[in-house]
Parts: sequence; C-alpha cells; structure tokens
Amino acid sequence: MNMNEKSIAILGSTGSVGKQSVEVATSLGLKVDLLTASSSVEEIEAQARLLNPSVCVLTNEASANALKEKLADTSIKVYGGESSALDSVMESQASVAVNAVSGFSGLAPAIACANSGKRIAMSNKEAIVIAHKFLKEAIDKNNAELVPVDSEHSAIFQCLQGNKGNKIKRILLTSSGGPFRGKELSELQGITASDALAHPTWKMGAKITVDSASLMNKGFEVIEAVRLFRVSPEQISVVVHPQSIMHSAVEYDDNSVIAQMGAPDMRTCIQYAITYPNRCPSLAKPLDLASIGSLTFEQPDTKTFKLLALAYYAIEEDGVIPAVLNAADEIAVKMFLEDKIGFTKMFDVVENIVRGYENIKNPTLDDIINADRETRIKTLEYIKGC
Ligand code: NDP
Ligand code: MG
Repeated sequence: MNMNEKSIAILGSTGSVGKQSVEVATSLGLKVDLLTASSSVEEIEAQARLLNPSVCVLTNEASANALKEKLADTSIKVYGGESSALDSVMESQASVAVNAVSGFSGLAPAIACANSGKRIAMSNKEAIVIAHKFLKEAIDKNNAELVPVDSEHSAIFQCLQGNKGNKIKRILLTSSGGPFRGKELSELQGITASDALAHPTWKMGAKITVDSASLMNKGFEVIEAVRLFRVSPEQISVVVHPQSIMHSAVEYDDNSVIAQMGAPDMRTCIQYAITYPNRCPSLAKPLDLASIGSLTFEQPDTKTFKLLALAYYAIEEDGVIPAVLNAADEIAVKMFLEDKIGFTKMFDVVENIVRGYENIKNPTLDDIINADRETRIKTLEYIKGC
C-alpha cells in the first residue's frame, strides 16, 4: 500500500506510546483520522492542531466539553464518552489503529478495531492477556489483523518472518531486569514510587514502569507471548539483558537462534506495526555495537520478584485468572503510586488475590469483565484490611 494513502487512528494518543505514535505518523507523513484519550485536554488539542484529524474523542465527558470549546475554530468533530470512542473507531476510515490505551480500558477499543476490520498496531498488552480468545475471534471474523507493538513481541514477530512452517522450539523473552535488578527482598522494602519510576532503559507511562520494576510486566509479556505465538509457557524463557539491545529471540529446531536488535526506542516498534511488511527510515538512532561494548544475559530472580512466577501460575490456570491478575495489579499499582502501600506489599496483595480467586475455566467475555470488576473491589477491600 502507498504510505501516503494510508490513514491511521491513534487510541490513547496523549500517553507515552500515543505521543511517540504521533511522531511516527508525522515523520511518515501519514494522515491521522482519529485521536482518542481520556482527559488530557491540552495535549490532545495540540495534537489535533498538528494533525487535523476528522474526529477527536475524550472518554471523560467534562474534558470533551472543554476540548469542544477549544477546537471550535476548526472543522474537527469532538465527542465525549466511552461509547463515542468505540463508535468513532467503528466509523473511522483508518486502515490501521494504534491501540496505545493503557490497562483494561484498552480491551473494548481493541475489539472495536477488530470488528471494523482494521489492522491493530497493538501496544495494549492487557487486552491480549485477559481476553485474547475473544479478540482473535473478532479479528478472524472481520478480516482484521494484529501486529504487536510491545518491543519484545515486535521482535519475536520479526524473528518469525520467513519461517512459516518452521516449529518454534523456544522463545527467549528479554527483560532489562528493571531498576532493582540484583536486589534482595529486604532491600526492596523502602522503595518509593519515584524510585520505581526511574527505569534504566525505557521511558514509559507510570503503570508499566512500576510493572517493569516489579517484573509483573514481564509476567504479562509471558502470557502475551503464549497467546500471540501459540506456544506453551514452558517454551518461553525469560532472559535478563540489562542493555535492552536484543529485544527478544526465537530458537528453532536446529538450535539456531534468530534475534532482533536495535536501540531501545518504541518508535521502531510502532512504525513497523504500521508499515509491516515494509520497512522505512525511522526516527530511532542506528545501533552502534562497538560503542555499547558488551551485551550480557542472566537468569531472572523469580524468588524475589515473585509476580513473574505468579504469571506462569495464571497462564497455567487460564480462564478468568489472567484477568484477575491484571485487575489486582492495576489496583495495587495505583495504591503504590498513591503511597498507600509499599513496593513489596504490592507483590503480596496481588499474589493473595490471584491465588485465592475461584477460577471459571471456560469463561464468556462477560465472565471476564465481571471477574475484572469483582477483583478490583476485592483488592481494595484487601488493602483496607491490611
Ligand atoms: P500512558 O499511561 O502513558 O497512556 C495511556 C493513554 O491511554 C493516555 O493517552 C490516556 O489518556 C489514554 N486512556 C486511558 N483510558 C482511556 C480510554 N478509556 N479510552 C481512550 N484512551 C484512554 O500509557 P503507556 O503509553 O505507557 O502505555 C499504553 C499501553 O502500551 C499499555 O497497555 C502498556 O502496557 C503498553 N506498552 C507501553 C510501552 C511504553 O513504552 N510506554 C511499551 C510496551 C507496551 P489521558 O492522557 O487523557 O489519561
Ligand atoms: Mg515490553
């Protein structure tokens, strides 16, 4: 497809991945048809003036009203509310939608993208973790497509190119190890939100940065990889690689390992998901291996960072448990960021909620949504009782 004719939608445009998607769209000269966010009025106004989309949606109604006033001098349509965001996705002429909405809120937009036959450049990993089966059904039914944006999954996807029919023996899922790599549990007790928000190699939104520090993010990524690449959890080996240069790898039957490398820059992954199967010049810096010097690899410490081990439990259990894991973690991270619980308390809260939840083995989408709601309430009650 001619890139100049391609128009895209950016969902969650005011967040970390969303803003980088705007940079990619601008550098590729793409038409942006739709922008959505929750309540960041000033940011989305600036993006709208830069990109001139047909529609902007803020899911928070009051913020949408404020945006409507600000954009009154333009022809851009502004809507408010969750259902308007979904309707706008359905109606958008964009052939690709970057889903950069954070958390459980990314699920409904992902399904709307699938139902409208779009390619989903999928950054929102939570929708895959909790309800991939339903998302995949909608994708297959509507001739839609999902290309991963998460850097490790983008890497794996790239390592699979040209290997159709060849069995995956193992996936090497890399992790930077986060800012607390090498620390013992006792050293993690006094960690504050600002300590956890200082990621060594990636600049990201607050939730995923805390999840990266606790290795919960890597746990979600194990589940994401199981779902996307149809491998068993045992076929995924997490490898700690602090330099974040090798973004993941695939081992084939002949023991050849194909890896994807590059500077740690989400704009490469976002762009590839939009332009796949083509590659174009990008905003990311070229890789200078000689100046990096050495790449190192080590085992993750799943005893200290037990949320990574818990993710393997969740995917073995499957059913609603991955959704419970996600919901308990969303609440625990929020409470940690508000200084209401400590860093290691977060581990205990999530583990207790997940292991104590009665699973539903073959859930409907409604079962999953109910499990999400119920878990949020249970987790808040559990934290209050601590
Ligand atoms: P941010 O918190 O920085 O941004 C989230 C975005 O979602 C904001 O634009 C926010 O709007 C918007 N939003 C929230 N709720 C809704 C909603 N109901 N409808 C529409 N938009 C909504 O998150 P990140 O960019 O860090 O992460 C986004 C997703 O990508 C997550 O799932 C994360 O796990 C994944 N990811 C992120 C990476 C990164 O480098 N940041 C790397 C790999 C994956 P507002 O600003 O108004 O609140
Ligand atoms: Mg990742």
